[in-house]
Amino acid sequence: MSASILVVEDEPAIQELVSYTCTTHGYQVRRADSVAAAQDAIRSELPDLVILDWMLPDRGGIDLLRDLRAQERTRTLPVIMLTAKSTETDRVVGLDAGADDYVVKPFSPRELVSRMRAVFRRRAPQHSGEAIAYGPLTIDPARHEVAVDGKPVKIGLAEFKLLKFLAGHPDRVFSRSQLLDSVWGDHVFIEERTVDVHVLRLRKALAPAGAQHLVQTVRGLGYRLSIRSDS
Ligand code: CA
Repeated sequence: MSASILVVEDEPAIQELVSYTCTTHGYQVRRADSVAAAQDAIRSELPDLVILDWMLPDRGGIDLLRDLRAQERTRTLPVIMLTAKSTETDRVVGLDAGADDYVVKPFSPRELVSRMRAVFRRRAPQHSGEAIAYGPLTIDPARHEVAVDGKPVKIGLAEFKLLKFLAGHPDRVFSRSQLLDSVWGDHVFIEERTVDVHVLRLRKALAPAGAQHLVQTVRGLGYRLSIRSDS
């Protein structure tokens, strides 16, 4: 359930500090000490966020960032660059290459965590740990509760995860395979039809509160959560 972070850093002390910081804040951590190792880790399992050092032994972190942005599977993967480079030009290069944020060494663990949360809020609110509100819905990841107009709704775990993800990206249409990757984790071999089953269950869970219409089928494309009714 907790978000997974890939820490790409070759300096053992900093790798340890960043990993420890993430773990104590409830994130799952994997580590890589080179671009090649990071690519392997990402290939085997897509993380929810990458903390990426600028200077790595084999290639520059910025090269990896550009590669990630050029590929469909990793285009929107949140990335925070971690670096000793602090001049404005470097910052601009990093952000231009598609970094979501930029943390300059030395940094405090608290700063790193607050920046991670900010990136999650912006890019993947389902991992921010904060309640998501959309239309009549409130989803509280910490308490694992869903409410419609303030009234609690009974919901299963898979449906909760699906709703949390959709509510983090309202109005956006996701295909079944995108939902499988994002909600169940990629490389998880579940049939796409399973998504339809959970969508049906989600609507059923929301029906007593009259909110089932928010979970919408977009013909030929997939599903979305929306308060609009134009499709
Ligand atoms: Ca380094």
